[in-house]
Amino acid sequence: MNKNEIRKNALSIRGKLKSEATDNKIVDELSNIISKFDNIGIYYPIGSEINILKIMDKYPNKRFYLPITREEISFIEYKKGDTLIDAKFKTKEPVGDITNIDSIECFIIPCVAISKTRQRLGYGKGYYDRYLANYKGFKIGIIYKELNNLDFKADDYDVVLDLVIEG
Ligand code: ADP
Ligand code: MG
Repeated sequence: MNKNEIRKNALSIRGKLKSEATDNKIVDELSNIISKFDNIGIYYPIGSEINILKIMDKYPNKRFYLPITREEISFIEYKKGDTLIDAKFKTKEPVGDITNIDSIECFIIPCVAISKTRQRLGYGKGYYDRYLANYKGFKIGIIYKELNNLDFKADDYDVVLDLVIEG
């Protein structure tokens, strides 16, 4: 199957996989992995994405950043209780100054599917591919185990994840 077919199937499967137990399991695993980082890019979950926001409660002294999507994505620091505004794709975005990518040591990235070559499939707009094209920090993909290690041919520009956490 090509990327579009995999994406469509994966999204349909993912709709049935959402569970709070999975969210909690992933947050537990993540909390060990990110202990060494102080500045962490996360995401505000939409639809059936795994909700990792509780990671912020485990580390009240670390800095977390949420994406905003315009022509491209960028990240803004978010502290618990800060204003979040409704944005496109049914997500929510913080308000403030855009953070330089080089000050974020690690990104936690939602995935629709992941290939056997550990490359990420997203919603088909390539936002993360472009944003992270030259990024040298640590990239963690979050995925349901049913949608990890799928057999499809990724493109050279698809983000290669350093680590995958599956729930
Ligand atoms: P997704 O990663 O969201 O699943 P795709 O991998 O299909 O989506 O990418 C969507 C579009 O983004 C593609 O048409 C591709 O040409 C473009 N794209 C991806 N990476 C880059 C890049 N580094 N520079 C320019 N365009 C890119
Ligand atoms: Mg891609």
